[in-house]
Amino acid sequence: MRRLELTEKALRKATVSLTEAANTDYLTGILNRRAFHLEIEKASQAPVEGMFVLLLDIDHFKAINDQYGHDVGDLVLVEVVNRITVNLRPQDLLARWGGEEFLILLKHSDLEAALNVAERIRCAFAEQAICVDELTIPLSISQGIANVDSISELTAAIRLADMRLYQAKQSGRDRVVWE
Ligand code: GH3
Ligand code: MG
Ligand code: MG
Repeated sequence: MRRLELTEKALRKATVSLTEAANTDYLTGILNRRAFHLEIEKASQAPVEGMFVLLLDIDHFKAINDQYGHDVGDLVLVEVVNRITVNLRPQDLLARWGGEEFLILLKHSDLEAALNVAERIRCAFAEQAICVDELTIPLSISQGIANVDSISELTAAIRLADMRLYQAKQSGRDRVVWE
């Protein structure tokens, strides 16, 4: 009986570890895309006011990989996540959306506050280069923002944020596009 209990306990522990691994981006430790969707499913049970999505993409990141190598690129990604995280509140969700693209979901926010967060993040990079591996690497971030009317509209809002991110890139990068 005791052995059975121990086995069950070990299994439960292993399941928790596996779930954590499946939901976490291995490099940066933040939510991956799958986990973001799971969090959203949870959130859809209780409607949240004032939601905004911010889609962020590092400008010319390929050039950083090309110049310093993929390992340094990885360290830069970790530092980028740290710098974004210090500008967020505990209730905000941050996910690694793709290679060097990140998605933020702000809750209980308004347009002015959302634009402030985005601009604060933009400045955090524009005003201070990233230091990794004894290297000083300047970089900038482009962002698209969209309002999320309801969780069921999230996909449409992300699509809109993506179009605005594209506009930010087209109009010169290192900027936030809202409309
Ligand atoms: P843009 O300003 O238009 O966004 O240019 P970009 O160079 O950032 O965009 P592009 O999509 O051409 O390149 C993205 C690069 O990100 C290419 C890919 O190798 C790199 N990348 C994606 N994931 C990782 C990763 O986990 N580690 C590293 N080191 N590089 C990654
Ligand atoms: Mg990029
Ligand atoms: Mg990209």
